[in-house]
Amino acid sequence: MSKIKGAVVVDVDRCKGCNLCVVACPTQTLALTTNEVNHKGYVYSYMAQPDSCIGCSSCAIVCPDGCISVYKTKPATAKPAVVADKVEIVSGVAPLVNNVPAEEEREVVLMKGNEAIAHAAVRCGCDGYFGYPITPQSEVLETLAELKPWETTGMVVLQAESEVAAINMLYGGGGTGKRVMTSSASVGIALMQEGISYMAGAEVPGVIVNVQRGGPGLGTIQPSQSDYNQATRGGGNGDYNVIVLAPNSVQEMADFVDQAFELAFKYRTPVMILTDGVIGQMMEKVVLPPYKPRRTEAELVAECPWASNGNGLKQRGVNVVTSLELDPVEMEKKNLQLQAKFKKIAENEVRYETVGCEDADYLIVAFGSAARISEKAMSLARERGIKVGLFRPITLWPFPEAEIREISKTMKGVLTMEINAGQMVFDVRAAVESQIPVAHFGRLGGIVPDPEEVVNALVEKLVK
Ligand code: SF4
Ligand code: SF4
Repeated sequence: MSKIKGAVVVDVDRCKGCNLCVVACPTQTLALTTNEVNHKGYVYSYMAQPDSCIGCSSCAIVCPDGCISVYKTKPATAKPAVVADKVEIVSGVAPLVNNVPAEEEREVVLMKGNEAIAHAAVRCGCDGYFGYPITPQSEVLETLAELKPWETTGMVVLQAESEVAAINMLYGGGGTGKRVMTSSASVGIALMQEGISYMAGAEVPGVIVNVQRGGPGLGTIQPSQSDYNQATRGGGNGDYNVIVLAPNSVQEMADFVDQAFELAFKYRTPVMILTDGVIGQMMEKVVLPPYKPRRTEAELVAECPWASNGNGLKQRGVNVVTSLELDPVEMEKKNLQLQAKFKKIAENEVRYETVGCEDADYLIVAFGSAARISEKAMSLARERGIKVGLFRPITLWPFPEAEIREISKTMKGVLTMEINAGQMVFDVRAAVESQIPVAHFGRLGGIVPDPEEVVNALVEKLVK
């Protein structure tokens, strides 16, 4: 039995009785009322077995409306939970955040991950957002519509007629040097792949947010990480990659928007923020980035001499933004130049974090929401006497291959925890180069694994 005692408080008035928390609870603590409703007429979640709660937070993670607060206590008789001798968070070679508010300007607010994306876009000088609503990311467009940035910063917000239209608006806007963004979910991102390939080929910057849901096809509206392959292999036709950032909190959802724009313009390339329905829908405290003014036309002309923005004839000749080149010799040259750029990105832009790896025998590699669950699993495993560390890739492309190879040299085995059938596991195996066993654990169909399941999988696949 776990030594941690937990308790949850459900915001009864907000609860809509969707049952997600009841299903997610590994200890059957929660149930829906059967003879009582809230003021909206919904049955609601409550602690039917209060003594069973282990404070794992699975219920709070899956609740789409942020109704649940989890409190944890250690009983006086319990031994302290065993954690790593030294828990260290190590950033990759590149900075994680580049738009941090001054201490006196820090304003802490509570919001959903999708809302944080929208607020961050307005605050970091975004010129335009083009998108089409799809669950579980519709709040991005809804929040922008509510914020009305066209009345304040002048940012354009447009609901396109489809995802295909939205990505081509991004191509057009980015081609003129504007800071433009779109968002969608899995199946919508699949529709955008042709446009993303055009942008990569024509070297057009832009930010694409993917709040993943389960697939294949229309799949489900529940969270998943099954677009790892789609995101990290370019996704469309031709030889290219997009930079992929994987936030694991509402704070990182806000922080990575500016980071994504900086990278997009630094390398003239599309950048994807790959998140999922858990992070998009959950509510957390967040410090929003400070306001950064949109670039003036003069700044844009100076910073984007390649852009096709109508100023060329007056100031520097005509720019043509295209991915088309019919001469094969020229096309090969273009491809080699793109490959050189991707190599430079791979050398300079890897980002990752490690937790508790110093004394670990086993390593869990996980990104985004799976990394949060895995961090809890790491503590539970240590309570059982198994020394586990966590490696969280923050850039999924470029993938922290050399860093995983190095850290795995002292490990007995590696478990990748992904909310999919096993996609990142192939990159981890390539990094580890068959030196130690690498196994995968994940759930499908929109089911989010609980930490206890992860520990059991680790034991079954690697430790026993
Ligand atoms: S999911 Fe975890 S925190 Fe929530 S009620 Fe169940 S045991 Fe407690
Ligand atoms: S997941 Fe949230 S909204 Fe759904 S029943 Fe549980 S508390 Fe209520």
